[in-house]
Amino acid sequence: MQGLMQGKRGLIMGVANDHSIAWGIAKALHAQGAELAFTYQGDALGKRVRPLAESLNAPLILPCDVEDIASVDATFAAMKEKWGSIDFLVHAIGFSDKNELKGRYADTTRANFSRTMVISCFSFTEVAKRASEMMPNGGSIVTLTFGGSTRVMPNYNVMGVAKAALEASTRYLAADFGRNGIRVNAISAGPVRTLAGSGIGDSRAMFAFQQKHSPLGRGVTLDELGGTALYLLSDLSGGVTGEIHFVDSGYNIISMPHPDALKA
Ligand code: NAD
Repeated sequence: MQGLMQGKRGLIMGVANDHSIAWGIAKALHAQGAELAFTYQGDALGKRVRPLAESLNAPLILPCDVEDIASVDATFAAMKEKWGSIDFLVHAIGFSDKNELKGRYADTTRANFSRTMVISCFSFTEVAKRASEMMPNGGSIVTLTFGGSTRVMPNYNVMGVAKAALEASTRYLAADFGRNGIRVNAISAGPVRTLAGSGIGDSRAMFAFQQKHSPLGRGVTLDELGGTALYLLSDLSGGVTGEIHFVDSGYNIISMPHPDALKA
């Protein structure tokens, strides 16, 4: 199928480089005709993000740090001025102090708990609300989560707690916006080697374990995550909202590793 996103415009938040999940999503949307705006966090990342965004002919490439409410407001004001309305939003933003993405969850500090929740969870509500105000004809909103929200993953710690709250936010926002024809869903991605992913303590071991013990016996690709986002952001998923959709090679369904995998 071609042109699934023809005539649709939207914002991609969370590209850091060409390994970012948000970049995989942006490419899939652009290939189907979407017009994309991008945000980047700070000048250093901007140097990487700008050429990527330009390669997809993005008309808007804006700095936005979600800890700074003024920069969030400026992003949406610029988008409103340029486009008036949008059709979709991708939120692929997460952060926690990597010194607390190892060891015990019990040792999380108050300061990092709050910061992690604001950046990795509350920012979604904040940008989804602003995006919804620019979707007079309905729209679709997607965020990124991880299975550490419901099951304990070593070292994922406070990010797991933030992802649980992010998933609950997805359901509440879906209920809030549903009557306006705006759908809100989350993709629960299997491990991907990105800047954020590599901040998790012993991430290589966790990635390898999940890949080995998932039903498909492998990791997931940016193209696969992009394809799922394309489905959720296009009219193909018209009746779907409030979902946490796993793209993790099936790892979430496993209780005990397959005996063959244990022998290998
Ligand atoms: P990434 O490092 O490429 O992207 C994370 C993004 O968050 C970066 O672009 C960074 O600039 C942005 N960010 C952090 N703090 C910010 C702030 N204050 N303001 C604005 N932006 C900020 O890594 P990624 O793995 O592509 O992460 C994207 C999303 O996917 C995150 O929510 C992450 O938790 C989630 N996720 C990742 C994995 C994985 O294994 N990599 C698995 C499941 C879910």
